[in-house]
Amino acid sequence: MLIVMQHGATADQVERVVETIQDMGYQARPMPGAQRTAIGLVGNDGRVDESRLAALAGVKEIIHVTQPYKQVSREWKQEDTVVRLPGGLTVGGNDVVVMAGPCSVESEEQILTAAHLVREAGGAILRGGAFKPRTSPYSFQGLGLKGLKLLAKAREETGLLVVTEAIDPEGVKLVEEYADIIQIGARNMQNFSLLKRAGRARKPVLLKRGIAATITEWLLSAEYLLAEGNHHVILCERGVRGFDSTTTRNVFDLTAIAVVHELSHLPIIADPSHATGRRDKVMPMARAAVAAGADGIMVEVHPQPERALSDGAQSLYPEQFTELMQETRAIAEAIRRRVAEPLPLPAVSGRR
Ligand code: PEP
Ligand code: MN
Repeated sequence: MLIVMQHGATADQVERVVETIQDMGYQARPMPGAQRTAIGLVGNDGRVDESRLAALAGVKEIIHVTQPYKQVSREWKQEDTVVRLPGGLTVGGNDVVVMAGPCSVESEEQILTAAHLVREAGGAILRGGAFKPRTSPYSFQGLGLKGLKLLAKAREETGLLVVTEAIDPEGVKLVEEYADIIQIGARNMQNFSLLKRAGRARKPVLLKRGIAATITEWLLSAEYLLAEGNHHVILCERGVRGFDSTTTRNVFDLTAIAVVHELSHLPIIADPSHATGRRDKVMPMARAAVAAGADGIMVEVHPQPERALSDGAQSLYPEQFTELMQETRAIAEAIRRRVAEPLPLPAVSGRR
């Protein structure tokens, strides 16, 4: 439920609404906006006496949020959420942010080489898994803490921010210490204890769409994060399971980008690497995603894809990534956006 204030309502009137909501046993979330100030009532159990709120001075109207997810909906918040990252980088504003790197952190040499090539081509955020959710228990599971430390080293050398996955609540504590964005993977989209822990984290969360999740289920998972107090959430479309797994790894749901922008104020990026599973299809789908309005893309690139310990077939060669950056810039400009520049190189720079 949203209590919308009249234009020109005073701070005292807003405060009175907040106090009344709290007095009724619910949480109040004031949202000052350019067009209107609204106060969200969190925890509506269907027993809210709205006449008590409607009668307060300065209240214009009471809106019932019709979607099952509340705080992530556009009804709740009209303005786009802009997720602010260190150094002034933003996701959800006018910039299109490119996150790139290998599927997994494999060694110091590999991740540092990858980070330098991502930066040189103009990517802003380094990706790379330290904790890998693998289908088979016998596949490479990631370097764990060592991988996180290598990612932090790569950030220090290149100025790239870091996004990496946490696969369990304990992992969130480590990831939030070393990375700039906590990734929750497709397989964990409905791991509710993980979502609750990430909702209490101090860092933004990148929430990937589940392998067979509807958009409503995905947005309800995002709601868990906001309900716990983390409003810095970026959604990521990464393809869903279709009936034809012989051609591409998943079915890239391009429509989800436009649909999510309508239903939610949260930024959405796209991952054409996991969506297609084939490096020759990553570039056209990255172009399509940006054209469809994605606020960024996440792509896998490896210095030597044929030697990758995971997802080599979908990892771009370095020169392909450079080309992808050029094309992404051209598409972004055509729709009056721009590709975010990497942050200035840190004063202390190693290698090269
Ligand atoms: C990944 O980004 O490496 C990954 C495992 O992706 P997803 O969760 O989308 O499968
Ligand atoms: Mn991968």
